[in-house]
Amino acid sequence: MTSQDTMAKRDYYQVLGVSRDASPDDIKRAYRRMAMKFHPDKNPDNKEAEDKFKECAEAYEVLSDSEKRQRYDQYGHEGLRGMGMHDYSHMRWQDIGSIFEDILGGFGGGGFGDMFGVGGGRRGRRAGPARGYDLETSVDLTLNDVSKGVEKTIEFTRQDICGECTGSGSAKGAAPGKCKMCGGSGQVAKGGGFFQMISTCPQCRGSGQIITNPCKKCRGTGHVPKKRTVSVKIPRGVHEGQGIRITGEGEPGRNGGPRGDLYCYVRIKPHVFLERDGNNLISVVPISFTQASLGTTIDVPSLDGTRGLKIPAGTQYGSVFRIKGQGLPDMRTGRTGDELVQIMVETPAKLNARQKELLREFAETENKTVSPKTQGFFEKLKKYLGNNE
Ligand SMILES: [Zn+2]
Ligand SMILES: [Zn+2]
Repeated sequence: MTSQDTMAKRDYYQVLGVSRDASPDDIKRAYRRMAMKFHPDKNPDNKEAEDKFKECAEAYEVLSDSEKRQRYDQYGHEGLRGMGMHDYSHMRWQDIGSIFEDILGGFGGGGFGDMFGVGGGRRGRRAGPARGYDLETSVDLTLNDVSKGVEKTIEFTRQDICGECTGSGSAKGAAPGKCKMCGGSGQVAKGGGFFQMISTCPQCRGSGQIITNPCKKCRGTGHVPKKRTVSVKIPRGVHEGQGIRITGEGEPGRNGGPRGDLYCYVRIKPHVFLERDGNNLISVVPISFTQASLGTTIDVPSLDGTRGLKIPAGTQYGSVFRIKGQGLPDMRTGRTGDELVQIMVETPAKLNARQKELLREFAETENKTVSPKTQGFFEKLKKYLGNNE
């Protein structure tokens, strides 16, 4: 269980510094420029640059994918929930380069690896197992779910190993061929003599093999988007924006690496009557001025329906009554908050003749016996006017 504050997200076009009608090439170029600028290799120990780097990666993921871009254009950041976005906030920046090495494979010949120098084997991407990417999705809860805790079924789309080729990327029966560029070693040498540089082969991206007859289902990538349903236990007392980690439900790892995780972010639907304030619930309840002055018992909304609340005679507008233990449980201590009922006294707007008559009569008596608070007010006002004369 981890938690994360929901940060206000910036506009993706703004992040990459492109116009809303930018072409895919413009976006690619802009991302490349920004990613170079904020790359942590160039900005060591600079958290801000790292965050910017991640922000750019996220923006690029959306704007480079026509389906995600369209959703974003139409619905903004909200529209991307459940679209199988990578969760960059939990990702090591070292892994981000390799995502886009895939996306930008073949871009400008050398690909992303060359551009960042990650292909040189320094990060050991070539042979070692790599953990799969984290994904994020969201779950909608009611305040009742928050109160009691709940088990939710969530559906999301993730890249999964292609069932047709079991991830090899080659059509059934076809064996991959040896990469011609590196002769199967996965590495290529640049320059000569002492200064020879060894880097990952851009053609096969280090595998040493090239798919000659690609699998039709996944077009040689070895994975396909797949719908997945998982069950998530939501603990009591969760808050808006908190992320629940579901271990091993992210994308598959490479070279036998483990799957990434899925982060399920909590969204809480507004309640008709109750508003959350920490572990307390607030309700606003209107009563008539006669109820307020004479006292009564009213039904107030609560999480499990309604609950009787005694209104004492002489209740003032805005008074708050506390119903102990009718709030939400605290996630850590389990202690339950209270419900705070705020009273709004309504002034009658439509009166019939009889009511008017009664009120006039009442008003006449009031002149002689003004209520204590009002009396104090008039005395203060008299004094105030006297001082100003
Ligand atoms: Zn396949
Ligand atoms: Zn190669």
